[in-house]
Amino acid sequence: MNPGDLKLLELLTVDDAAGTLHFAHRRMLLFDADAMGMLRKELIETLGLDRVRRILTRFGYACGYRDALTSREVGDWPSLAEWWAAGPRLHTLEGVVTVRVLRAQIDQATGRFDVEAEWHNSYEAEQHHTHIGPSDAPVCWTLTGYASGHSTAVFGREVFYYEPECVGKGDGHCRVIGQAADTADPKVRALQDDYRVENIGAELGRVLEALDQQAKALAQQQAKVSALESQLSSLREALQDPHGGAELVGTSAAFHQVLRLVERVAPSDATVLLRIGSLKHFLLPRPRPPQHPPPPAPPPPGLLRAAPRAARLSLVLDRRRRMG
Ligand SMILES: [Zn+2]
Repeated sequence: MNPGDLKLLELLTVDDAAGTLHFAHRRMLLFDADAMGMLRKELIETLGLDRVRRILTRFGYACGYRDALTSREVGDWPSLAEWWAAGPRLHTLEGVVTVRVLRAQIDQATGRFDVEAEWHNSYEAEQHHTHIGPSDAPVCWTLTGYASGHSTAVFGREVFYYEPECVGKGDGHCRVIGQAADTADPKVRALQDDYRVENIGAELGRVLEALDQQAKALAQQQAKVSALESQLSSLREALQDPHGGAELVGTSAAFHQVLRLVERVAPSDATVLLRIGSLKHFLLPRPRPPQHPPPPAPPPPGLLRAAPRAARLSLVLDRRRRMG
């Protein structure tokens, strides 16, 4: 079988009574392209462009991978290259994009996979431009995903495609390059993350768990600080209260000698080092309220209110001279 012989209507089985459409054993659907564009817009507004780009890339990957498996069922392909060529043909028949293959070097024995193709009439570029607007990056996400999934299924090893040119970013047509994932091309290697399934719930769960751990650690630190502040406050009260010494219990002469020394220095602002055996305690003075100068005596009632500014200044200077 030649890929060019594939005809859409011959591939599909329509059951009017059941309301189903099948490609071999797979149930297929017809969608309105504008509805897909509106779905894309709503997804981007909800999830953000980069996340939707990855989701739609993987959606396209699933479509391409399944098309490859189905085309192997329906066609008697003489070679791997022709089985692979059925993918671009199906992509065109399904109304997604017109594909013009520029080069295709596929060799399972050596692991070489190198494909370049032009894409024309990409429905995805049209819809992105209509509903999202001009882009500074390629926008044919489901299409590159389809090509990656299809080629991976045929080649038996991971293959990724990227678009050096895309109508969505203002180029005259889309151009795509596909290579094996283990190639040295950094652009291809960088694509691997786009194909990993994201679990948003698990991601949020990890973030919340980390925040919970941080909150617990912070609460423990705050409890320690509160306990230390309470101990410090009690110690200050005991040292600076003239009767506080009565709460200290001790019978040795050395203890009472230390107590007398502490009582002597307690009224001062000095920081005292108290050494008991190998332990050292710094006794800090109790903070004292700031000393404010007494407010000046109020002027005689009605004097300043009626006096002009020059007279008021003179009055202030006279008062300072008398005070000096
Ligand atoms: Zn494109």
